[in-house]
Amino acid sequence: MSATLELSLQGTLKKFFGFGKFKGNQEKIISSILAGKDTFVIMPTGGGKSLCYQLPAIVSEGTAIIVSPLIALMKNQVDAIRGFSNEDGIAHFLNSSLNKADITQVKKDVLAGKTKLLYVAPETLTKEDNIKFFTEFNVSFFAIDEAHCISEWGHDFRPEYRRLRPIIDKVSERMKMNIPVIALTATATPKVQLDIQKNLGMLDANLYKSSFNRGNLYYDIRPKTNVNKEIIKYVKQNAGKSGIVYCLSRKKVEEIAEALQVNGIKAAPYHAGMDAKERAKVQDGFLMEDLNVIVATIAFGMGIDKPDVRFVIHHDIPKSLESYYQETGRAGRDGGEGNCVTFYSYDDIVKLEKFLKGKPVAEMEIGKSLLNETVSFAETSSCRRKVLLHYFGEDFNEADCNSLCDNCRHPKQKAEGKEDIALALNAVLAVKEKHKTKDVINVLMGTLTSTGKTYKHNDLKLFGDGVEDDKDDRYWSAVFRQALVNNLLIKDIENYGLLKVSDKGKAFLKKPYSIMVARDHDYSGAEGSDDDDIITPTGKGAGAADELLYALLKDEVKKISKQAKLPPYAIFAETSLEEMAIQYPITVEELTHINGVGQGKATKFGKSIIALIKKHVEENDIERPMDMVVKSVANKSGNKIYIIQNVDRKINLENIAKSKQLSFNDLLHEMETIVFSGTKLNIKYYLDENMDVEKQEEVIEYFRESTSDSIEAALKELGADDYTEEEVRLMRIKFLSEYAN
Ligand code: ADP
Ligand code: MG
Ligand code: ZN
Repeated sequence: MSATLELSLQGTLKKFFGFGKFKGNQEKIISSILAGKDTFVIMPTGGGKSLCYQLPAIVSEGTAIIVSPLIALMKNQVDAIRGFSNEDGIAHFLNSSLNKADITQVKKDVLAGKTKLLYVAPETLTKEDNIKFFTEFNVSFFAIDEAHCISEWGHDFRPEYRRLRPIIDKVSERMKMNIPVIALTATATPKVQLDIQKNLGMLDANLYKSSFNRGNLYYDIRPKTNVNKEIIKYVKQNAGKSGIVYCLSRKKVEEIAEALQVNGIKAAPYHAGMDAKERAKVQDGFLMEDLNVIVATIAFGMGIDKPDVRFVIHHDIPKSLESYYQETGRAGRDGGEGNCVTFYSYDDIVKLEKFLKGKPVAEMEIGKSLLNETVSFAETSSCRRKVLLHYFGEDFNEADCNSLCDNCRHPKQKAEGKEDIALALNAVLAVKEKHKTKDVINVLMGTLTSTGKTYKHNDLKLFGDGVEDDKDDRYWSAVFRQALVNNLLIKDIENYGLLKVSDKGKAFLKKPYSIMVARDHDYSGAEGSDDDDIITPTGKGAGAADELLYALLKDEVKKISKQAKLPPYAIFAETSLEEMAIQYPITVEELTHINGVGQGKATKFGKSIIALIKKHVEENDIERPMDMVVKSVANKSGNKIYIIQNVDRKINLENIAKSKQLSFNDLLHEMETIVFSGTKLNIKYYLDENMDVEKQEEVIEYFRESTSDSIEAALKELGADDYTEEEVRLMRIKFLSEYAN
């Protein structure tokens, strides 16, 4: 590069963008596109890809056309560039969000040569009506951002992205020159990279690939048991830090956000079902740190650039390692702490596979392969970083992980795998390098499947040779993975998943050397995601874990109830007793963590209960779950939090009902669920305005004496002429709140 060009690039960087020096490969990339070469950039998120086309666009003659998939991102970028310049026409976007007048203005500026960067959605570029326009002005180059959208093997395939090349050709033809193309993406496996280059016709592009290693992130995969509780516990232990919790379903998002709120965490849900305004509010709240934790479907995070996200939790394993990498990548952008915790259960994989059913065969096959890679990553007991980076085509020495993954931090016992790896390679050769890992393992295990029959695998000399001691499928899958990450085996890129022995592998067969192998993790005990593991106090049939203790507790409560002259349900609800038979609280403090047990109740009635549990624990040698106890949400509906908050504010009950579009009867029902689950609702303010104090006292008196909380029985006793059902229900809420909770 000439010294003057170098100088002017530096100058533009400073003058226009305000940065002192280029980051990573930026300068080389910019020089490549300015030299008219097709250029392919693979750089992790946050690496500074935008600048790689923005800067050359500004210093070039003509207008650069930038294809970008997201309308919101386009607008952000255009605003940012306009912010650097005092000429609004310098950057524009064309997409479906513009009206006719906007479009006319954009086209006018472009044709007048004012515009350096024109952002377009792929469907805008390929639209028949627009093509003429794109041939009417001087195009400096095409930039294809988020280029992985081209590949069906990427994590975000968009068919319109595959139709870009013909347009580029048309424009090039008109200009009688090859307009250079720069493609950029943050994730590309070797397979995706090849797809992109082929589709864009840029196989001989200059390639700039940065390392994907995020050296400060801690990767942790945990079995998915008690996941909601584990998440809440984790967040509580990290109170005050910013974090994201990803869930696959909206329902889970709302449920967990609510559970976090109830546990005193500043959290909010975020998903595509919310309107744009609400979502923007949540995003701002997160950036401004009014909110610490966002519980989101994957829709969250695309455009946000918060450097100090300290943890990313996956409630469900993502459907591909690309997604996993992207989503975990939002942690620790500033190079500081970044913990990535994923809860894994094979059941979730089965569920994700079910989603694929009904899709076109090709898409289904691709989806399955991506899932297999995910399984393999989750279950490996090798360095996570090494396996993840290998997936992106990068060699990594696990010694450099610095124990920043669960497997390096808590290594499993490894055994010499030299001979077994050799056997695995020989098996791949024996099936003529035409099969996937699973099929080759079947050969070694002597399992005859329909594929095996078709190819007469049972006639192979080494059929069944892998059956030995405790070597099972799981063991062999670890062996194959070791061979893969050591590059002795390669997966055929063209025919995804077919194993081939590399040159290095052939050399290994001639002269085997020591390679250690650890058995994969076995997560089969994990429960999967459908469990309702926030103990739902209103739910029936959850049952007590410790039946004996539960029975003892019930007896004890009856005893207390006689002494206190209160019905048993007013002492401790059955759901509370059930929870005690799981949590084994043995101090007053611990007892208050049980749902439905407040400080007052714990001190008033808790002594004998605690003594009883303690004795039971000691006599039966019970190991108590020492984890922090998590408060549960009365019910999954968002109405409840609203009601609790507004009753606190002494809002008229009719108004609360109205603003939530509930009938008064529905509101009563919701309030009943709330108090039955142990949360107080102080509705004295409302009752005092609407009901005689004497009348109130009479009902309280009744409930105090009664052995049942039935409204019917109460009305019968009190006289249906004197009391309405509504009144009695309200009084029961008051009674339960004052005496029972
Ligand atoms: P990517 O598209 O690769 O995810 P961006 O283009 O959004 O990354 O850039 C990420 C951040 O890095 C932005 O805040 C950007 O302003 C900043 N950045 C880019 N280049 C430089 C540079 N040379 N020096 C300092 N900061 C930079
Ligand atoms: Mg970008
Ligand atoms: Zn590691």
